[in-house]
Amino acid sequence: MTNNKIKTRFAPSPTGDLHIGGLRTALYSYLFAKKHNGEFLLRIEDTDQARYQEGSIDSILDGLEWAGIKPDNLDNIPYQSSRIKIYKKYAEQLVKEKKAYYCFCAQETLAEMRKNQEQNKQAPKYDRKCLKLSQEEIEKKLKTGTPHVIRMKIPENKTKFTDLIRGQVEFDHNEIDDQVLLKSDGYPTYHLASVVDDHEMEITHIIRGEDWLPSTPKHIILYNHFNWDLPQFAHIPLILAADKSKLSKRQGASGVLEFKKLGYLPQALINFLALLGWNPGTNEEIFTLEKLIYKFDLKKVHKAGAIFDKEKLDWMNGHYIRELSLKKLTEFCLPYLIEANLVDSESYNEKYIQQIISLERERIKKLSEIPQVTQYFFKEIKYDKNLLKWKKSDLETAKSRLEFLYSELEKIPEKNWTRGALEQFIKDLINAHNLGTGDTLWPLRIALTGQQNSPGPFEIAEVLGKEKSLERIKKAINL
Ligand code: GLU
Repeated sequence: MTNNKIKTRFAPSPTGDLHIGGLRTALYSYLFAKKHNGEFLLRIEDTDQARYQEGSIDSILDGLEWAGIKPDNLDNIPYQSSRIKIYKKYAEQLVKEKKAYYCFCAQETLAEMRKNQEQNKQAPKYDRKCLKLSQEEIEKKLKTGTPHVIRMKIPENKTKFTDLIRGQVEFDHNEIDDQVLLKSDGYPTYHLASVVDDHEMEITHIIRGEDWLPSTPKHIILYNHFNWDLPQFAHIPLILAADKSKLSKRQGASGVLEFKKLGYLPQALINFLALLGWNPGTNEEIFTLEKLIYKFDLKKVHKAGAIFDKEKLDWMNGHYIRELSLKKLTEFCLPYLIEANLVDSESYNEKYIQQIISLERERIKKLSEIPQVTQYFFKEIKYDKNLLKWKKSDLETAKSRLEFLYSELEKIPEKNWTRGALEQFIKDLINAHNLGTGDTLWPLRIALTGQQNSPGPFEIAEVLGKEKSLERIKKAINL
C-alpha cells in the first residue's frame, strides 16, 4: 500500500432491506474511519444473482442517508456485478501460479462425496480429485467445454492473526475446504470478489460481523497467494434478542426504514446502535454522531453478543424527541397526523398543532404515537358514559359537578381562558364548595378527551379553547 490513509468499507449484498445489524456494522466502520481522518467507502456485493432482491439497493442507500452515515464514494460506488472480468482474470492468474486449480466435478459427484464424508463422520471437504488431473486432461476438458469451477488450494499449515476485537485467532487449515473462487457461470464467489476489491480499494481495516470470522483465514490465504499486503480485521459481535437468540424479524422490526416509519429519530437509533456492543468505559449514554467519532475506540468493542434492548431505544428516542424544537417536532409529527386522517395536508393550523404537540412532547417515545394520543383534538369524541364515573363515585355526582363547572366556566372571559387561570379558578371552586378533586377533575377530563389517559384538564381546555371545551362539557352532561 502506497499511503497509510485509513480506509474502511461497508460491503452489503443486496439480498434484502438494510437491517439494524448492517447499519451498526456501517456505523462502526464509519466511526473508525472518521476518527482517523480516513475514508469510509461503500461497495455493493451483487454477484449472487439468485439471492438478489429487488429494491434492496435503494433500501441500503436510503437507510444510510436517513441515518446520516455518508460514504465518501457516493458518486462512484463499485458494483461487483460490473467487474466480473476482473475477478476471472485474478482467478486464472492463481491457476497459472498453481495456487488454484480447475475442478470439473459435477454436482452429483460432490453430493455423493459429501454424503460419504457425513457417514464417516468427516468434515465435508472437497477431496482434490481434480488436483490430480494432468495438464493434457485439463486442456481437453476445457476445450470440450466441460463445466468447471476454480478452487483455491489451501496450503497445509495454520493461519494466525490478531483480530482487533477478538485478539489472537488461529485456524488449522485441515478444517478448511478448497474454496471455490470462480463458479461455473463465470461469477466469482464472495471470497474472491471481496478480497480482490478490498485490495484494489486499498482498504486498511475490514470491520464486519462476527459471522464472517470463519471466512477470514481463506481471505488471508488469498492475500498471501497474491502477495498482497494484509489489512487488519475487526469482527464485531452479533446483535441478540432479549432471550439471547439471534435477532430476527419475529422479534419485531429490524429494517432500518421500518424504524424510521415507526417514528424513531436517526440520532436516537445511531446513538443506540453505537452502544450496542461498545461503550466508552464511562456511564455516559447520550452521544451525537460527532461525539461518537471522537470517543469511538475499536478496542472497547465487546467480544460477547450485544442484546437488543428495545426499552432503552425507546427511552433514548424520547430523549431526542424532547431535544427537538417544537417547530421541528411538529414538522416531524405532521405526516403521521395526515396519514391518520386527523389533519388535512392542504389546510391546517400550524400554531394549533404545535400547541397540541407541546402537550405530549414530554410523554411520547415515538412519533408514531402522536395520532393516537392527540386524536381527541381533531375529531368528535365518542366514549362510554360510565367512563365519566370517578372510581367508586356515581354518574349523578359526575353530572352535578359538570353542570356546576359549566355554569361557572361560562363566566370566564375568553382572554382569561389559560391553563394557569383555569387551574386556579377550578381549584378554588373545589375548595370553596367541597367538591372533591377526583370527583370534579376526572369527569372534566373525560368530558374533554373521552379517554382515560391524557395530560391534565387545564392545559387541554386551554388548547381546545373556551367554546369547544364548554361544548364538550355540555355533551357529557347530556350523556
Ligand atoms: N457482502 C457481505 C455481507 O453482506 C460482506 C461481508 C464483508 O464485510 O466482508 O455481509
